[in-house]
Amino acid sequence: MRADRVKKVPPYLFAQIDKAKEDAQARGIDVISLGVGDPDLATPGFIINELKSSAEVVENHHYPPYEGMLEFREAAADWYRRRFGFSADPASEIYALLGVKEGLIHMFLALIDPGDITIVMDPSYPIFEVGTFFAGGDTYHIPLREENDYLPDLEEVPREVLKKAKVIAVNYPHNPTSAVAPRDFYSEAVRFARENKLLLINDAVYTELYFDGLKPPSVLEVDGAKDCCVEFHSLSKTFNMTGWRIGFAIGNAEAIDALSVVKTNTDSGVFRPIQIAGARALREDLSSVDHLRRIYTKRRDLVLSKLKGVGVSPYYPKATFYVWSRLPWGRDSIEFCRTMLERSGVILGPGVGWGRYGEGYFRIALTVGDLLLEKAMDRLCAAIAQGE
Ligand SMILES: *Cc1c(COP(=O)(O)O)cnc(C)c1O
Repeated sequence: MRADRVKKVPPYLFAQIDKAKEDAQARGIDVISLGVGDPDLATPGFIINELKSSAEVVENHHYPPYEGMLEFREAAADWYRRRFGFSADPASEIYALLGVKEGLIHMFLALIDPGDITIVMDPSYPIFEVGTFFAGGDTYHIPLREENDYLPDLEEVPREVLKKAKVIAVNYPHNPTSAVAPRDFYSEAVRFARENKLLLINDAVYTELYFDGLKPPSVLEVDGAKDCCVEFHSLSKTFNMTGWRIGFAIGNAEAIDALSVVKTNTDSGVFRPIQIAGARALREDLSSVDHLRRIYTKRRDLVLSKLKGVGVSPYYPKATFYVWSRLPWGRDSIEFCRTMLERSGVILGPGVGWGRYGEGYFRIALTVGDLLLEKAMDRLCAAIAQGE
């Protein structure tokens, strides 16, 4: 019954992690999951209040504009101007999304034909590859290596690949490794995209979850970037709103126009009260995010010090809410994560789940409460200390 495209897509990593959790719980194991990055903390109250009051207004129950309410797009534009110094036209250069996951899948449908290639990073969030595959295209993987701070060497892409390539998809700050791209990298990537007539997509959902006061830049800060770049942003991670489903695409008008063709024929936009609350969030002074950064910093430091105590030295996280580390032994990340689950009840993300070059690594998500995280780390580190 299933279409080939459904048969051929590998099971979604996080659905598998959820299943491993249920199986272990059914066997009586007391499980703590550090596998999936879904904020444990509440959406700030002022955003919830805005949702509540705008949900009372009857006009807000109708179909919203496809591209998003002007109020939301203007709030997004103003925020980009304040945060990154980039001015976008809300009418043609911003489009509201039901989350970045949805937006990316539809952007690939809008851009990729069978035979086209998307250049993706490896390891990476799986959606770039899946979106390309759903559209009938192929992906070329550029390895990200710890010694290069998980930035790709764009010169590695072979000429035959570049002939067929249409899109290059990056994601900084990067999930799963927590690497941040400096502005120099973006300049180089924009030049590369322009030279090779590619659209550059940057999934930038983690720009606000940075550590040590070092604000990650946007690719749109590079001069002329909007001629060949679109950035994807989400309220999910910045405001603990993963279940709300709201984000936006910003940048190249032609790409956004192509996206609009797919989206007007697929969905009917984001519930107005969620857009109104989202606009309110983007217009705040973002002190709620300051608070969030402090919490994640404390958790990051706890995880780093516990791992150090058992001789494991992770990549130093510059942003996101992940800690990415080489396995303490062996190369098989699935086997290692299984052993840790059996010994400690702690679920980790196996690096290979993000791609071949993620093999040999594991990921910890900092999205559980401080006490639970400490308990999980104590158990995990005891399990690591037992050795292979
Ligand atoms: C969480 C995450 C997303 C999903 O964002 P939504 O707006 O909730 O769909 C997209 N990209 C990356 C890299 C993520 O980690």
